[in-house]
Amino acid sequence: MGPRPSGGHIGVFRFAGWVAARGGLATVDPMSTAPTPPPIDDKDWTWVLERPCPECGFEAGTVDASDVASMLRANAAEWQDLLRRPDTDRLRARPDAEHWSALEYACHVRDVFEIYDQRLALMLAEDGPHYPNWDQDASAVEGRYDQADPGEVAAQLMAAGLRLAARFDTVGSYQWARTGFRGDGARFTVETFARYFIHDPVHHLDDVAKGFVALGDAS
Ligand SMILES: [Zn+2]
Repeated sequence: MGPRPSGGHIGVFRFAGWVAARGGLATVDPMSTAPTPPPIDDKDWTWVLERPCPECGFEAGTVDASDVASMLRANAAEWQDLLRRPDTDRLRARPDAEHWSALEYACHVRDVFEIYDQRLALMLAEDGPHYPNWDQDASAVEGRYDQADPGEVAAQLMAAGLRLAARFDTVGSYQWARTGFRGDGARFTVETFARYFIHDPVHHLDDVAKGFVALGDAS
């Protein structure tokens, strides 16, 4: 999971096509029912384990997996400050056609915390499990990320982040090599999974910071 490196925001176009093919959704304006373009994708981001991210500069490959729990708690705290800004119009504004609003990114990160907690639990309980699929595009649309309440999202994000951090805390030294497989066949150990995971919320904080600048508000 993670944002695409550039351009190809396939997901939204696929969804838009899905809506169009059905003549829009009944009783609602299709545009208000398809709130994304989700600038994220679950497939091609394993390269972040090999080299620095050209967008946010994060070097996931150099992270000590045993630090991920504390990095996660710090990240969740940063979202709290951001989501409790009084100017909610800013939180709901998209800086451009290819990026979500701060609120939408926060909803995504909250859901990433949940999904990764489930995946980590699975990896610790079973040998080489295959993760259930997660359609991020559908989550954004069905979860109405665009209409969420910032205060509720802040609380949910923190709760989910703390749950996942607590689970990372339980990983014993002999468990970092346990494996799991994503739907596309990508193989992770708990160690690479942890490194891969932590890039996502870091990257999206960077997206939000850049978005605020683009919106004319660097605060
Ligand atoms: Zn990045």
